[in-house]
Amino acid sequence: MSTPALIEVQGLGQRYAGRSVLRDVSFRLQPGESLGVIGESGAGKSTLARLVMGLERPSAGEVRWSGLAVQALSAKERRALRAQVQMVFQDPYGSLDPRWRVGRSVMEPLDALSMGEAQRQQRLAEVLAAVGMEIDAAMRFPHQFSGGQRQRLAIARALTTKPRLIVADEPLSALDVSVQAQILSLLRDLQQREGISLVLVSHDLAAVEVLCDQALVLRDGAVLEQGATAQVLGEPQHPYTRSLLAALA
Ligand code: ATP
Repeated sequence: MSTPALIEVQGLGQRYAGRSVLRDVSFRLQPGESLGVIGESGAGKSTLARLVMGLERPSAGEVRWSGLAVQALSAKERRALRAQVQMVFQDPYGSLDPRWRVGRSVMEPLDALSMGEAQRQQRLAEVLAAVGMEIDAAMRFPHQFSGGQRQRLAIARALTTKPRLIVADEPLSALDVSVQAQILSLLRDLQQREGISLVLVSHDLAAVEVLCDQALVLRDGAVLEQGATAQVLGEPQHPYTRSLLAALA
């Protein structure tokens, strides 16, 4: 029997107030594989990311995590699987509460799992080390860090539950160019060291090239092109993709 894909998306569609913003999106990732999602503003990239995370109910199609349809899971099953899929946002404040010491925000995803305090502290130390931060960072507040450090902390938070997939929505675009390179290399490192898969929403083609095996180009909610990254970025078939890539390059 073949092992189920880490994630499988089939015929996915979404409508908001009767308007179709995503249509017939399908892809599958095996463990350790990553997908880059490219498209101009309003193409439906973030909507796809939210659906992959199981944060919204799609109006068509389905999302399967390790072979299980996310929409059909009970709340308990979903909580258990939730640990396997985490999200990183463009703005780290999406996952770091400005009023909380960083350690509390970083460890929050563990609250849903029953874990002893000693184990929690050990996990905190592990994830901070994994993103190159000192343990005493946990006692400080988000505003005491630079943008790049905050994004590292948001990634640390995503790592606490040992996810197999991270959905990252424009994780580099709010950062200075030099810091982008550091976060890119951190994500690459996590893929290689921990075998984590990424669904990366990005207009940074270099990031998609470095991090993703597959690429998918969205336009007005529909898939225009998809396939191996080298093929999609190197030999785009559609004139729109060629002009989009020229604009983004
Ligand atoms: P950007 O790069 O600007 O973030 P995007 O490609 O991520 O764009 P989405 O945010 O997925 O695009 O939005 C796709 C379309 O759906 C847009 O027209 C947007 O206005 C609309 N949309 C997104 N979320 C909602 C919502 N909750 N209710 C109504 N319309 C929405």
